[in-house]
Amino acid sequence: MKVDETGEFRAALLRMKKKLSGPRLVRQNPPVSVATLDQVNEALRRLDDDSYGVCTGCFMVIPRGQLLMRPYADTCSDCAGRKRTPAPVS
Ligand SMILES: [Zn+2]
Repeated sequence: MKVDETGEFRAALLRMKKKLSGPRLVRQNPPVSVATLDQVNEALRRLDDDSYGVCTGCFMVIPRGQLLMRPYADTCSDCAGRKRTPAPVS
């Protein structure tokens, strides 16, 4: 992914990181995100090593719309769904 395409994701991740790192006194309403600081840091690391936006499950590019909703996503919706509800082996 080109830098100009990832810039907005980086900005979003940095905003999340700031909120997650800050004092927990203020409850966000509605919650900004259900991401953990680990997930956000991991996504920032992937931006730096150029693997951002690629599914860690099937190595397909994660759709942009999905990244806009969850900038910290490391799997596509298919793989994320598979993780949550493992399909029976047939
Ligand atoms: Zn996938």
